[in-house]
Amino acid sequence: SLNGKTAVVTGSTSGIGLGIADALARAGANIVLNGLGKAEEIETIRANMARTHGVEVRFSGADMTRPDEIAGMIREAETEFGSVDILVNNAGIQYVAAIEEFPVEKWDQIIAINLSAAFHGMRAAVPGMKRRGWGRIVNTASAHALVASPFKAAYVAAKHGIAGLTKVVALETARHGITVNAICPGYVWTPLVEKQIPDTARARGLTEEQVKTDVLLAAQPTKEFVTVDEVAGLALFLTTDAARSITGAILPIDGGWTAE
Ligand code: NAD
Repeated sequence: SLNGKTAVVTGSTSGIGLGIADALARAGANIVLNGLGKAEEIETIRANMARTHGVEVRFSGADMTRPDEIAGMIREAETEFGSVDILVNNAGIQYVAAIEEFPVEKWDQIIAINLSAAFHGMRAAVPGMKRRGWGRIVNTASAHALVASPFKAAYVAAKHGIAGLTKVVALETARHGITVNAICPGYVWTPLVEKQIPDTARARGLTEEQVKTDVLLAAQPTKEFVTVDEVAGLALFLTTDAARSITGAILPIDGGWTAE
């Protein structure tokens, strides 16, 4: 059980991050939620999670494009809960366009949120984990950490980058009871996927329905979306003692996508 441990999960007001935070709370961890959204909706999520699982749940509005706010989120969590034992770097956005039309500010934003934020979070959280001799870091990468798709220059670059970063920090922390791994989901039906369908349809000259079957599910031999609960289950397993020898691993959970 994770009783008495504290987990910071970035991008946990929606989708995969929310599922991971809920799974860690169910296992007994206190949680720091983070992400964008309406204040009332976030408060409802926070209060429900705390009540359902009988743990403490707080919210940090840290913007993952801001290094100072990321370090501040970790510092505050350490002050309020005494430690950050588990860090899940999960916040992410997508943008779909051909390279010659890819907006420069979207490139910068995706590299900041999907890659640099994990650097800043780990940089701030690793010292405390080393002092206590225990830590679990899970980076939400993607099948796009292992293979590419057209029209996703920034996303694929950031996800390949986080795979490399994961391996480096795993090596640096291997003697300190800390594991650092990347989980690589295939397509999971979340707002991030739903929002990219119109742009993908435009970029590829397809209808939105064709995008779903001929692009998204075509990538996955199972012909099914991966579920949030399945991804959360993998992240939870990586926090257990049974997973103490899994570190520096880049773990696909993609219905066979990257096996092809
Ligand atoms: P989502 O849109 O449901 O959730 C993204 C979360 O990140 C939200 O909580 C959002 O508020 C937060 N976020 C975005 N910008 C932020 C910022 N500047 N500061 C703080 N928080 C911010 O999407 P999701 O599908 O759950 O994606 C979560 C992670 O999973 C991402 O890293 C994504 O790349 C990855 N992923 C998703 C899929 C998929 O098919 N859905 C597949 C592989 C990997």
